[in-house]
Amino acid sequence: MVKTSTISLSSISVRGVVQGVGFRPFVFQLAKRHNLRGWVRNTSEDVQIAVEGEAKNIEQFAKDLRGQAPPMSHIEGIEVARGTPKNYNGFEIRKSVTESGKYQLVSPDIATCPDCLKEIFDPKDRRYRYPFTNCTNCGPRFTIIKDIPYDRPNTTMGSFKMCPACRKEYDDPLIRRFHAQPNACPVCGPKLELVDAKGKIVVGDDVSKKTAELLKEGKIVAVKGLGGFLLACDATNEKTVNRLRQRKNRPAKPLAVMMSDIDEIRRHCELNKAEENLLKSPGSPIVLVKWKSESTITKAVAPGLKHLGVMLPYTPLHHLLLRDVWLPLVMTSGNLSEEPIAKDNDEALRRLGSIADHFLMHNRDIHARYDDSVMIVERDIPRFARRARGYAPYPIHLPYQSRQILGCGAEEKNTFCLTRDNYAFVSQHIGDMENLETLEHYVNTIGLYKKLFRIEPKIIAYDMHPEYLPTKYGKELAANSRLKLFPVQHHHAHIVSCMVDNGVKGSVIGVALDGTGYGTDGNIWGGEFMVADYKGFKRAAHLEYLPLAGGALAIKKPYRTAIGYLTALGIELDRNLPLFKEVNKGEIAIIKNQVEKGFNAPLTSSMGRLFDAAAALCGVRGVIEYEAQAAIELEMAADEAPDEKGVYPFSYEKQADVNIIKVADLLKAMIKDILNDTPQAVVAARFHNTIARMILETCQKIAKESGIKRAALSGGVFQNRLLLRKAVPLLESAGFEVYTHRQVPCNDGGISLGQVVIANFSEGE
Ligand code: ZN
Ligand code: ZN
Ligand code: FE
Repeated sequence: MVKTSTISLSSISVRGVVQGVGFRPFVFQLAKRHNLRGWVRNTSEDVQIAVEGEAKNIEQFAKDLRGQAPPMSHIEGIEVARGTPKNYNGFEIRKSVTESGKYQLVSPDIATCPDCLKEIFDPKDRRYRYPFTNCTNCGPRFTIIKDIPYDRPNTTMGSFKMCPACRKEYDDPLIRRFHAQPNACPVCGPKLELVDAKGKIVVGDDVSKKTAELLKEGKIVAVKGLGGFLLACDATNEKTVNRLRQRKNRPAKPLAVMMSDIDEIRRHCELNKAEENLLKSPGSPIVLVKWKSESTITKAVAPGLKHLGVMLPYTPLHHLLLRDVWLPLVMTSGNLSEEPIAKDNDEALRRLGSIADHFLMHNRDIHARYDDSVMIVERDIPRFARRARGYAPYPIHLPYQSRQILGCGAEEKNTFCLTRDNYAFVSQHIGDMENLETLEHYVNTIGLYKKLFRIEPKIIAYDMHPEYLPTKYGKELAANSRLKLFPVQHHHAHIVSCMVDNGVKGSVIGVALDGTGYGTDGNIWGGEFMVADYKGFKRAAHLEYLPLAGGALAIKKPYRTAIGYLTALGIELDRNLPLFKEVNKGEIAIIKNQVEKGFNAPLTSSMGRLFDAAAALCGVRGVIEYEAQAAIELEMAADEAPDEKGVYPFSYEKQADVNIIKVADLLKAMIKDILNDTPQAVVAARFHNTIARMILETCQKIAKESGIKRAALSGGVFQNRLLLRKAVPLLESAGFEVYTHRQVPCNDGGISLGQVVIANFSEGE
């Protein structure tokens, strides 16, 4: 018998970032196109669809659902169930349903899309030069959400009432502003205001044009962006940039530059295709790219560096400003030194009043502080130095179902992480936890993530370092609420974060190289080779313990580390070394005394400190003004000698079943080179070759003992691009499968992710 009707019904559930991104209008149009009837609606956890029609049309519909989804959506999963046809009339968008306890993913803030950009610069458009133009494909998301579901009253746009024209767009499924929660126009939306440092309004016909004039005059202007204020000034004006540095108390740390378009960036920097794509991507991060020597951007922006952090405008306001000023602009976080970025208008005036001459602000509140993301492209892979705007709070996928856990993170470059189901919600970059403002930002942001993703952690994972503020916070929290506490060793967390970043299970050889991390023996670790899995680790090899003369002081003054190391290793202090030019005899005696008596000279196996010592030895840098400056400049010094093949010697000593890597021969050979007037570029290149070689040989030793041929590389030292470029191919050609970071930073920004994984597998029920 031939069936007369092939009408069937399918109920479809779509999960992921599918709300506030134009998904329902897309479904609406897709259903019409395939001659299907039914409805679509948002719930607290998914988009639900019922479609009725011919089976082959439904099949095609389901395929296109994934294949043609709107640009800002991110589908995590689609479930389809068959049902009995209900004889729907047409297709409709139904009211959203809220269910308690359910949650959904939240989109990060997205750079202005090409369609909106066109409107902003079209004199005939009603949004001509309107700085808050956005649509379902772009604009603020995470920074304005106070709670889910993502509807206007739950955002900081709640206080703006849409005008009839905007309302019409908002209600029309065929327009790209359908249910665009921050939808606004010059009639009904937020407005700009330019004020001086005292908060007095500066008059001008066009606020953006007036601001551009001030910037051209050399003024510093605090500009309110998506996740906070950025300090802007003319990047080609050395005097202005230095004034900004002085006022911000940031003497040397590189600043980022925003340029109007990709051609302008090309005038100042060399870009490869991957870097260009990353700059133009919806995340619109700061990308560190090669800085051309002929660039007119003042060297004061990034003293001593060959890379420049650049970005494109990512809000309509930036686009307007950049076109009006027609200059590359320094755009750096609106804060004093290491404090969190300022986000509220009155807060900005209070905290940045002594830095900025003027404030370009507006009356749309920022709910979440959100720094710019910083990335590099190395070995063709985009990698994070800092993960925030454009990426967080999008979760990292776990290769298992997790319990609800809070990972408190590390002290520096802090992020925290909350887990549920197979998601790890790694927070945006919070910052260095060294002041109360940052701690407050941290606590508030944990609260926001718990609320948005409906997470109540039962376990708190923390770094073993007793002095870390996040560790203290976690312990306090547990004490007050009877939560389980789980300590995680710093470098184990690094390695596991790299494993999860790559979706890897089982055991690996973990190479964790960084500046500082608390070891299980109370020493400062940082040159660690371990056999590790999600549950535990065995320290298989490490750099030998050497003394840091003066502790924290040695970190600020790498020459102290160098002299201390040489003293401890019994290597003669040859006064012809460039190192001794900046040290007086009295201090040398103090350092020697500290090392010999073991007084205020904590032991460390840190690779970061070995880089410091090497940088000081060859005269690259003896005193630093920002974290890792000596190591970064050593890398820069070596940059021009890519063909240098020389390697310095090093040796191993087996203690119990641990391989100790001895560096006396390395330092001696380096000193010999330096005293023979070998160019700095060659010495620096040979040092990098040596560390790459050390990574290879140590992994080979461990592979022989353990049978493991997979290596995970993590820790801040791997931000060194030259080292990464040298070490990875060496390992690969020796038959290792090598894992490096892609989704979270290799630096301490990744620690919280490692913590939650280790706690999940190690802490019993
Ligand atoms: Zn748009
Ligand atoms: Zn309007
Ligand atoms: Fe670390």
